[in-house]
Amino acid sequence: MQTKNILDFEYSDLQSYLLNELGLEKFRTDQICDWIYKKRVFDFESMTNLSKDDRQKLSDNFKISIPQIIKKQVSKIDGTTKYLLELEDRNTVEAVIIYYPSRTIACISTQVGCPLKCSFCSTGQSGYVRNLSTGEIIGQLLAMEKDKEMDVKNVVYMGMGEPLLNFNNVVQTIEILNHPKMKKLGARHITISTAGIPHKIEELGDLNKEFRLSVSLHAPTNLQRDQIMPINHKYPIEQVIQSCRIYQKKTKKRVTFEYILIKGFNDSKDDALKLVELFGDMKVMVNLIPVNANPAGFEKPSKRFIQAFLDTLVKNGIDAVVRAEKGSDISAACGQLRGRELKEINR
Ligand code: SAH
Repeated sequence: MQTKNILDFEYSDLQSYLLNELGLEKFRTDQICDWIYKKRVFDFESMTNLSKDDRQKLSDNFKISIPQIIKKQVSKIDGTTKYLLELEDRNTVEAVIIYYPSRTIACISTQVGCPLKCSFCSTGQSGYVRNLSTGEIIGQLLAMEKDKEMDVKNVVYMGMGEPLLNFNNVVQTIEILNHPKMKKLGARHITISTAGIPHKIEELGDLNKEFRLSVSLHAPTNLQRDQIMPINHKYPIEQVIQSCRIYQKKTKKRVTFEYILIKGFNDSKDDALKLVELFGDMKVMVNLIPVNANPAGFEKPSKRFIQAFLDTLVKNGIDAVVRAEKGSDISAACGQLRGRELKEINR
């Protein structure tokens, strides 16, 4: 019999399946979720508060498919840990644990590779293979938690891939992260980062789910953005911003914009002022990211330029911060995740 990955299931679907197909009482779902999501126990046989009979039924119908850690690198600078994870079909993705003084964050992937091919990002360079399943996205988090023996309370969808091009699965994973009987994370603890797919941003606004939205803008004009993000030809800046306004109107939530600073390209005072104008009266937060080592050979601006850019935004009423780089020595920083070279997969 084909076994299903239990990590693909949202709470209510799992409960109905267990009840209707396997005849397990309703409260068994809570016990099973507790084993998997809280205790990090990934085999049914060890779930000792279930009867032998129930455990057998579960193993006959389900697997708990956790991606296998095939490589792990720990940054000597800040402890950031990058994992190369192998999926059942032998494709690989990378995921990262990042430590801040007050919190630990899991950065997870949503696709094998990425179809967007932003010039500054290493992920797109290795091509695009496929979307990850719900269980494969959740499984990354569980694999890392198990390895670190810790409960990670913050998740960012900033690994490989474009989350909004894998919309349904990503939304299902948010449901699993939110659910009180599953991961139990709230809005401030989950961030979806997108290169900007306008109709999907609007759709996010209709969901009654807890998360934050972050949009990778990176340039204030189409002329500039076209050069570094091919997706901008399809969805130009005005459309992306308009969808964020609609999202904000629907949700009343602040939208975060990521802006990588590239020396001599998008780092002038004029660029900062154009950004201010673009945002208008929208409630935003800007994360400035001095560009990390990248395939296009772009360089970070000097400290003075970065500070001046930040000051211009702040003086004009925009909340902005410069994001500290993490895990640079192991290529675990934003845009540096690649997975295994694709040619190796076809063994
Ligand atoms: N596809 C999604 C999520 C993955 S990338 C998105 O575009 O948002 C996560 C963040 O890292 C994005 O803001 C992305 O633009 C940024 N990033 C990619 N390459 C980078 C680099 N070389 N330096 C700094 N940030 C980078």
